[in-house]
Amino acid sequence: MRPPVIRKKLDALRPPHLLDFERERTSFSWSQARAELQGLPGGALNIAHEAVERHARGARANRVALRWLGAGGDSIDFTYADLSALSNRFADALTRVGLARGDVLFLLAPRIPELYIAVLGALKAGVVVSPLFSAFGPEPIATRIRLGRGRALLTTRSLYERKVASIRTQLESLQTVLIAGNHEGAPVPEGALGLDALLDAASERFDTAATRPDELALLHFTSGTTGKPKGAMHVHEAVVTHYATGKYALDLHDDDVFWCTADPGWVTGMSYGVIAPLLHGVTMIVDEAEFDAERWYRILRDERVTVWYTAPTAVRMLMKAGTELARQFRFDRLRFVASVGEPLNPEAVWWGHEVLGLPIHDNWWQTETGGIMIANTPALDIKPGSMGKPLPGVDAFVVRRRVENESTVGVEIIDAPDEEGELALRAGWPSMFRGYLGNEERYRKCFVDSPRGRLYLTEDLVRRDADGYFWFVGRADDVIKSAGHLIGPFEVESALMEHPAVAEAGVIGKPDPVIGEAVKAFVSLKPGFAASEALRLELLGHARKRLGPAVAPKEIDFTTTLPRTRSGKIMRRLLRARELGLPEGDTSTLESGG
Ligand code: AMP
Repeated sequence: MRPPVIRKKLDALRPPHLLDFERERTSFSWSQARAELQGLPGGALNIAHEAVERHARGARANRVALRWLGAGGDSIDFTYADLSALSNRFADALTRVGLARGDVLFLLAPRIPELYIAVLGALKAGVVVSPLFSAFGPEPIATRIRLGRGRALLTTRSLYERKVASIRTQLESLQTVLIAGNHEGAPVPEGALGLDALLDAASERFDTAATRPDELALLHFTSGTTGKPKGAMHVHEAVVTHYATGKYALDLHDDDVFWCTADPGWVTGMSYGVIAPLLHGVTMIVDEAEFDAERWYRILRDERVTVWYTAPTAVRMLMKAGTELARQFRFDRLRFVASVGEPLNPEAVWWGHEVLGLPIHDNWWQTETGGIMIANTPALDIKPGSMGKPLPGVDAFVVRRRVENESTVGVEIIDAPDEEGELALRAGWPSMFRGYLGNEERYRKCFVDSPRGRLYLTEDLVRRDADGYFWFVGRADDVIKSAGHLIGPFEVESALMEHPAVAEAGVIGKPDPVIGEAVKAFVSLKPGFAASEALRLELLGHARKRLGPAVAPKEIDFTTTLPRTRSGKIMRRLLRARELGLPEGDTSTLESGG
């Protein structure tokens, strides 16, 4: 049997930033972390200035900031000076097409260089960046652009034609569409502008906007159980957390070659696939291609990656590809591997230890927190299966809500070890979200006053052991985590119900050995429609077309009725229990006949 703890042997020649965990937790302050950044005159703070300009004007100007690996085998290096010049051009181009500080630019693109240049350029111009995952279908794209009142969209010709053209007239706020990477000279779609020509005409000089620390910088959409997706608002001050967590949780040093495999369409790919590595002046690898085990091993080896940040689904896919394949490679330079987004099975931690020669360090955070909060840091022994301990500057509690009339009126803080409760964080870290766009009430409901201060309630269930390690137990709500992506069941149900045959739909996450949870839908049909294999395939196709492959259900079952509460809410928990043959729990609110 394997031991419960992996003891750390520290490299004396290269001690991690966070050598003495407890001491650093005691002495740390966010203001001290902020002082390690440069800032702009008058107390202004701008993420892109810290990520690029600070280095481009100093000793790191000619260091490779971004090594882009094209899907076809080509590669391009961008130094910090290159990124500075290109993002200046982008910022200038945005201004010329009429975008102003505070306007929202949506990004819908594969991992192409223009995506990274656009993020940095927009932030320099004080334009708010909202990334969309390029595997979304037209429906999630339209919902988010409408909610975010996007003024501009950066995309590619093919994505525009496949996903945006059909919804364009519904997007009233959208004035400008920029088409990136149209190098073959094909005509730019009508109503859009070619980015290359705009960049050519733009100036290489641009004065970064002197944004206030509390000025909106990033808008990340995330899903809840009910209603529309929520736009989590993040401000420029978040850069302090990106910096501190890059240092403490990922141990970034400026000679590192860092690879974050997450797509910038999701918060990890933005906070740690763009911002944090550049803040630390490292060389970051961006791979345009989709997952391929052999390709990934080759990248780790050939690019001499030193720090690697990936996700449990990816690790499980590597495990599935077999140890044989992994053993054909040596990863001499790799010194730290971390993972986030879903529970990391102890098996996967050990697989890293045995196959990569390094255990995988699980860490925890969510869109709302903007950065890593709980982590297995380099100097901590690892308890495989645990998410680690709260980082310096983060105070985490296990709580139980006191609910009256369906609203939370307080919490009981559970100090005893090994008891299950909801994870709560003391409000006030710099990358804490500052609102859900247009939904003040929903935001307010995330916080509660307690004897330990104002707490943010995460909706994750956890326990903390006697040594202070946190263990993930599950979600307190019905959101689905599939391949690391948070999916709101309501969005999927709504798309299914747009089909003329569907009367009602209930959507759950069904455990899957590789992607964590797979989206499964139960639908009941309107009178006059009969369940058949052909209809099932039609519904799967309908959902895939509307929602895109990342969000659409993988399985659909027909049912005559769906269990509902007396107040009419679908009891997804019950659907899930029935699907998995688990006890049905408390069904006292179940409407009879469900
Ligand atoms: P997102 O906002 O899309 O980043 O998803 C955040 C959610 O992913 C969290 O609230 C958790 O439910 C889950 N999650 C993130 N990291 C972990 C982890 N290390 N272990 C278990 N679940 C995680």
